[in-house]
Parts: sequence; C-alpha cells; structure tokens
Amino acid sequence: MLKFNISIPDGALLVLTRLEEKGHEAYVVGGCVRDSLMGKTPEDWDVTTSASPQEIIDVFKGEQVILTGLKHGTVTVRLKSKNYEITSFRSEGEYLDSRHPSSVSFVKDIKEDLKRRDFTINAMAYSPKRGLIDLYEGVLDIERGIIRAVGCAKERFEEDALRILRGVRFVSVTGFEIEENTLKAMNERATFLKKISAERVFVELDKLLVGEFVFKALTIAPQVIFEVIPELKKCYNFNQHSKWHSLDVYNHIARAVSSIKPKQELRWCMLFHDVAKPDKFFLDENGEGHFYGHADLSEKVAYGILKRLKASNKLIENVCFLVKNHDKPFPQNDLKFKLRLAEIGEKNALDLVDVKYADNMAQGTIKSSEERQNIAKLESKIKEVIKTCDCINIKQLKVDGNDVVAYGFKGRQVGDVLQKLFVDVLAGNIKNEREKLLKSIEKRAKTRL
Ligand code: ATP
Ligand code: MG
Repeated sequence: MLKFNISIPDGALLVLTRLEEKGHEAYVVGGCVRDSLMGKTPEDWDVTTSASPQEIIDVFKGEQVILTGLKHGTVTVRLKSKNYEITSFRSEGEYLDSRHPSSVSFVKDIKEDLKRRDFTINAMAYSPKRGLIDLYEGVLDIERGIIRAVGCAKERFEEDALRILRGVRFVSVTGFEIEENTLKAMNERATFLKKISAERVFVELDKLLVGEFVFKALTIAPQVIFEVIPELKKCYNFNQHSKWHSLDVYNHIARAVSSIKPKQELRWCMLFHDVAKPDKFFLDENGEGHFYGHADLSEKVAYGILKRLKASNKLIENVCFLVKNHDKPFPQNDLKFKLRLAEIGEKNALDLVDVKYADNMAQGTIKSSEERQNIAKLESKIKEVIKTCDCINIKQLKVDGNDVVAYGFKGRQVGDVLQKLFVDVLAGNIKNEREKLLKSIEKRAKTRL
C-alpha cells in the first residue's frame, strides 16, 4: 500500500484555509498530489476550488494577485514569496479542433473538474479537511506503475492531442507502463499532434528529454515522437553496418540521450547528434558503413527543428555547436589544442567530453569500449590545461586594448596584436606578466609586427 504522505507547504495551506474560511471547497490538485504520493517533492502546488474567479479575487484582496489566466478561471496569488495558481472547478465543452475546448464552464462539483484531467495519476485532489479525492483509481495506478487516460482514451486524445505527448512525457519521468487501451489510442491518434502549437509541443518534449526513463519514453511509442519530429523517422531501424555500432540509428540515439546527464542542451544534442546519418550513409567495398559529414548535416537539421519548435536562440546555439562538433577530434599539437580550448571555452569543451562519452556508451561494441580511454585522456588534458594555464582566455591577458592603443596601434591592428600576444603566452614564449607584455607591445610597435 502506498504511503499516504502529503505534506503541504505553509503557503499552499494558507491558500486552502483562506478559501475554506469563506465557505468554498479547496484542494491541492494534479501534479503535486501525484508527486507527493510518489515520494517526490513537488515544484508547484496548484489549487482547485469551488469559488468562482471573482470570489477567489475577493478572498485574496490585499495580496498580490495576477490575473493573466483569468479566462481559463485561473488566478495566481503570491503568498510567502511563492506563486500559487488557483483555478475554479471547471468542466470543458466540446473540443472542435483537438486543442481548445469550445467553451469552459465553472461548476460547483470537484468531480466535474477531475473528469476533464488527462491521466488517472493526475486526476487526484487532496485537502487536509476533506481527504484524498481519487475517483479514477489514481493511487492504484501509481502502485501498479500505469499511465491510463481518464475515461475513453480515444475521445480524450481527440479533444486535446497534446495529451498524447504528455503521456509519453510521464513515462519518461515515472518509468511507468502505458495501459494497453491508452497506448493503442495514442498510436491511433498520434497524427492529431500536427494541430498542436509548437510552443506546447516544445514544453512537453523538453520535459520528456530530461526524464530519468527517457530511453523507455523514446522507444515505447516512436510514432508519437516522429509525429512531432518527423526528421527522426528515417533513423528508425536504420542498420549502420558498422563495427562501432551494435544498434540501429534510432536506438543508438535513444541510448545516447539516456546516457548523458539530464541537462537540457546535452539531452537535445544527443537527440539530434546523428539525425542526418541516414542521408550520409555509404557502404564501402568491405561492407562497412560510413557516414562522412553527418555531424555538419545533423547540425543543420537540428537548427531547422529547434527553430520550428520555437526554442530559444541560446538553446539553439548551444545544441548546434555540440551536434556539429560531437565527433570532431581535438588537435594533437599542444599549442593548437590550447588555441582550440581558448576558442570554444571551458564549458563547451567539457560538455563535448560528456557528449563523446554518451555517444560512445550508446555504441555498445568492443571497438567503442577501447575508444573510451581516449575520451578519458582528452578529459584529463582539458582539465590539466585549465588548471595550469593562467591565461586560457584572451581577456585574462594582463594587458588590454588600451595598452596596445597607447603604443600607437589603431583599428584592427589592436585586436591582431592582442591575439599574437595571446598565442605567445599560450605557446609559453612569454609569461602573462604586465611588464613583459608591455615590452613585447613596444617591440612590435617599433618593428610594426
Ligand atoms: P509537472 O510536474 O510537469 O508540472 P503536471 O501534471 O503538474 O506536471 P501541468 O502541465 O502543470 O502538469 O498541469 C497540471 C494539471 O493539469 C495536470 O496534473 C492535469 O491534471 C491537468 N492538465 C494539464 N494539462 C492537461 C491537458 N492537456 N489535458 C487535461 N488535463 C491537463
Ligand atoms: Mg504542474
């Protein structure tokens, strides 16, 4: 039996108490109840109440109240430096377009509100005064480890197709199985996901990718993934004919995603690092497969997908850099190695090491396990250079542009001189000491070098 332990933070408790004091029913609901029952600490505590939006506003008069969600019946109240979303019990009218209900009506019965929620594990409400309201065996499904739609799965996915992707996202986060009918309906209705806005799809994919059970999520219903990222479809069952790889491209990708730490840009990078492999495939005379140039093309494909999904420019830039460079070696020569490190920076260099490990771990062959030592060597070399070099970034030089200008250099010459000084320091020809660097600038000024 599941340990029943919902410990509500003070702010959320205050929200419930204030509403109940004015004669309204109020519960915490959805994700926070699910997470509490699963022994996780919820991030947000959402509240559902019999009070109408206007009544909620009246109850919290004098507090900071945000009204942006009002047309859906949501009022956000800031209490004890946290925001709480309080939504009136509502039921939804017909869905005519697989994404928006044609109408929303406020109701007085919690049962109606729970009925419109997506999965049984998300359709529970709790209040210390009224106990747990679990009309759809959500507790049982948590115990059994099952994701099941509330009511008729097919209809629920037709109403709002995003629920299909949310179901896969919950697999990634919980590791649960999808109940048979629910899974069948997901696959049958996957094409409806085309109607969902890029922003909503991105939010769910982003959460899906950082889940602990992401391999299971990416492989449990691949059609659902291909519906939102059709570019991955070609990778499915694509035999690599390679002594480096034991898996087809799609399974290798899914393994690689789950082999890297759950950081947003790293997970997105692994999802796309080999996306263009099928386009670059060629078989040599020995029957060995090659994919020359796949990283550059994968970067272009990744860029297109992330733009389409309306990802932030920062994420796009980071992911594209990692995808493009995932299989590029670092230079062997010491100076060139340091210059490369200086060019890309410490964070990118260490992220690339993580990417190379994850890629390698997902290959699963003897050849690839031998290669792992080389990644370990690369990692130590990067760390060693960062530790021992007091100047791995041009900004760390003990002189700057003003010093160069003071010796009569102008315009582009200033940057050129600084770059040359920097290379001299990296190569160990000169110490990163102000006096020595100024002397060197003086000498260059005399000889115009
Ligand atoms: P998370 O922990 O990521 O916030 P969550 O379950 O709380 O997960 P939210 O998007 O915050 O997800 O939604 C809160 C609740 O609202 C859900 O638990 C569910 O009850 C309901 N819900 C959200 N989106 C939908 C939807 N598309 N269809 C039906 N119910 C939904
Ligand atoms: Mg939530």
